[in-house]
Amino acid sequence: MEKLTGPLPLETDQLDRLERKPGVFVLYDGAGNVTAWGRDDADLPARLRTFGSPHRAFAYRLTETSKEAFTLECILYHEAGGAFAHQGLEHPERPAGHSWRCPICSLYD
Ligand SMILES: [Zn+2]
Repeated sequence: MEKLTGPLPLETDQLDRLERKPGVFVLYDGAGNVTAWGRDDADLPARLRTFGSPHRAFAYRLTETSKEAFTLECILYHEAGGAFAHQGLEHPERPAGHSWRCPICSLYD
């Protein structure tokens, strides 16, 4: 999998240390199972603050641009080999108004 930082406890003091930039995240429950994942196009720590129980830990990577976050989210999705899809999590969507392509598949070609 693409290198992420973490998992770290999903707690305010951890989130306070993150820069307010775009990025991707994966959330885990107390047993280390993936419970959610995604990206934020502007402020990753703000997005992470919206999650509570049963999510207990997070892994993340900040990016400089929302396009980088989208591209990284696509790579994470495909590298997961469908494991996330089993939980009803679907292919990353592009922000409105952008025609970016997935770097892995032809969904948006
Ligand atoms: Zn794709």
